[in-house]
Amino acid sequence: MGTTTIVDMNNISFKDLTTFKTGGNIKYYFEVPSEKDLVEKITFAKKNNLPIFIIGGGSDILVSDKDFDGVVVKYTGKTITEKDGILMAEAGLEWDKVVEYAVNRDLQGIECLSAIPGTVGAAPIQNIGAYGQELKNTFVELVAYDIENEKFVTFLNKDCKFTYRDSIFKTDQYWQKFVIVRITLKLSPHEKPMVKYDSLKKYLTSSVDHTLEEVREAVIKVREEKLENWLNMPNAGSYFKNPIIGFNKKTEIEKIFPDVMIYPFEKYYKIPAGWLIEKTGWKGKSLGPVKVSDKHALILTNPKGKGKTEDILKLADAIKTDVQKMFGIVLETEVQIIDF
Ligand code: NAP
Repeated sequence: MGTTTIVDMNNISFKDLTTFKTGGNIKYYFEVPSEKDLVEKITFAKKNNLPIFIIGGGSDILVSDKDFDGVVVKYTGKTITEKDGILMAEAGLEWDKVVEYAVNRDLQGIECLSAIPGTVGAAPIQNIGAYGQELKNTFVELVAYDIENEKFVTFLNKDCKFTYRDSIFKTDQYWQKFVIVRITLKLSPHEKPMVKYDSLKKYLTSSVDHTLEEVREAVIKVREEKLENWLNMPNAGSYFKNPIIGFNKKTEIEKIFPDVMIYPFEKYYKIPAGWLIEKTGWKGKSLGPVKVSDKHALILTNPKGKGKTEDILKLADAIKTDVQKMFGIVLETEVQIIDF
């Protein structure tokens, strides 16, 4: 799997490896294309008593501005195979390449997850989701390297404890303890695509019989228009989670804002965090060198990569305080904050 070259780089900082374009310098950075190379570099770190940080596309993390006196490892194996709808992809592949590959082979199940930034390895950590589709719906299993016990292990779907944009890999016990090297999905050959959200329907020309390709194109278009592309506007997607509220809070908000869109979520309700932020007036506003996106209030941006992690944290705190004052709702961070 992959080639056998280990890319070994000096003078790299988290700024170069994250889509927020912030973070401190890194002592050792290795890109490893195979399981053998991965084990070699993890062993090096352990033998030298150096802390280890595993990185993927760096698209869902906000890393401390402090220097990291340890080893950062990126798994870069990119093999992808499929037979009878069972798709296997290595962790280093860009997630969107998997969606493209599946749609080209007429395999249904992940078309709404088009254009989500990040790697295959990061997808289960966050249980990526969009327009009503979630990774957990098609996920079969993953293989990961257990850093502490020095062996490869398999996690089945149920072992990953997937919930809304969450998995076991975000808990303290599992976070940064396993290096995901490949995942397996079960997709549905020749099935019709799934279109649930009105925000997506608006981008489809006809109302019935869409092809997977049409849905993929619509998702790419809506994301281009409504979200920020980190290549020209550094960001890490949704900064906060959509809060889950009870019936009383829902009624209270609907009385004051009859236009609010609140969605049922299990036994509770989900209110878009972007809408709450917009109501506080933060959309498009700057604080020092960082800014809330003009397009989508849930996205905090680092225009021109001039801001630091510290600046983004200050902006997030100011937003949280205002949302809490106005609605009595405490926003939770969706992006992983990394401090050393
Ligand atoms: P949108 O489609 O305008 O909807 C706004 C919010 O309302 C979303 O958070 C969505 O919840 C919820 N919603 C809309 N229609 C719904 C329905 N029929 N049933 C239940 N909930 C509904 O949202 P958007 O901000 O442009 O994003 C589109 C999709 O991409 C969303 O699914 C969003 O979660 C996803 N996304 C994820 C990230 C990330 O970084 N994780 C970034 C951008 C967008 P859900 O969030 O539960 O879908």
